Amino acid sequence: MRKKIVAGNWKMNTTVPEGVELAKAVVAKSAEVPADVTLIVATPFTHLCPVAAVVEGTRVALSAENCADKEKGAYTGEVSAAMLASAGCKYTILGHSERRQYYGETDEKLVEKTRLALANGLDVILCVGENLDEREAGRHFDVCEAQIKNVLFNFSAEELKHIVIAYEPVWAIGTGKTATAAQAEEIHAFIRKTVAGKFGAEAAEEVSILYGGSCKPSNAKELFAEKDIDGGLIGGAALKADDFIGIAVSF
Ligand code: PEP
Repeated sequence: MRKKIVAGNWKMNTTVPEGVELAKAVVAKSAEVPADVTLIVATPFTHLCPVAAVVEGTRVALSAENCADKEKGAYTGEVSAAMLASAGCKYTILGHSERRQYYGETDEKLVEKTRLALANGLDVILCVGENLDEREAGRHFDVCEAQIKNVLFNFSAEELKHIVIAYEPVWAIGTGKTATAAQAEEIHAFIRKTVAGKFGAEAAEEVSILYGGSCKPSNAKELFAEKDIDGGLIGGAALKADDFIGIAVSF
């Protein structure tokens, strides 16, 4: 049985005290969520240690939003996978479209980041997804397939057990435009088939594939009802505990 997951990506939002309050509110409401749903909050680096103290011993797991592609040393401003693990992270998001678009994150760098994250005991939430031009040109399958092959195919079936895929069509992120459940399912099934082509059907069945892109309490149920959608990576709606939990109860 693959894991159902709802992960909140806070991005560059909230001050540290605001983030601590948000984490406390998520923990307080987490009992409303079915026990088989994994809840994750991904916070800015500055928030990790204080939020780790809030979620410790609760069912809410801590994630970073990124990590360095180098192990350690003279890389001013970077934060390593080992640092994240020591701060209490269980996960890190990697390859978010905002990092690919604004910070030149390449598939090559993502291979290194993924390798270091896994080596340091972190599970990875690996984001893939096409932009609007690519969708309109009918290239969404090719784009997602290339991103999966370029990164994921460098790892073993054993390592795959520690990787969650998030399909996030860039045109749906923060735009209020959600992919329809049918559009999302079509790509999720395709991603699972692509994974099966390399790792086998059994391994592919075990991989959780999350949908991300303007997911909210009002549309989560329809999305999560699809066979290959195992939860969500949530941006804007993760900044309000009520909305985040409202999504997580939608399975
Ligand atoms: C995201 O950036 O991961 C995301 C899904 O954002 P939003 O929910 O705001 O579209």
